[in-house]
Amino acid sequence: MKCMFCKIVNREISSEIIYEDDKIMAFYDINPQAPVHVLVIPRKHIASIAELEEDDRAVMGHLMVKIPEFIISLGLAGRGVRIVNNCLAEAGQSVFHIHFHVLGGRTFGWPPG
Ligand code: AMP
Ligand code: ZN
Repeated sequence: MKCMFCKIVNREISSEIIYEDDKIMAFYDINPQAPVHVLVIPRKHIASIAELEEDDRAVMGHLMVKIPEFIISLGLAGRGVRIVNNCLAEAGQSVFHIHFHVLGGRTFGWPPG
């Protein structure tokens, strides 16, 4: 079965997209864990951070540098934001297409569960 987030990239399933360009996409998480919960993904299918290769440097750098723009557009400027990547199943990854969770609008504890 094809990857869920590739289906979102290809518009085979709908999502609430807040940003997209030729390299990345950002959309609301379907099961939010905070008042603001967005996922930021590369358009390219890469299963996890553990599989990143040298050729992915530009897209992943672009993805990271875009996150501050999302923080502002989501109304979280100056607030604490939790940015999470669960890498592989033991760490809680359930969709095997790299994604960064951008969570905000509440206080977060540490360590995570
Ligand atoms: P992870 O457990 O880190 O792999 O996170 C996967 C995230 O994807 C979870 O927070 C899910 O709620 C979210 N998710 C799964 N399917 C969808 C979807 N169709 N649209 C938006 N978010 C989704
Ligand atoms: Zn994918």
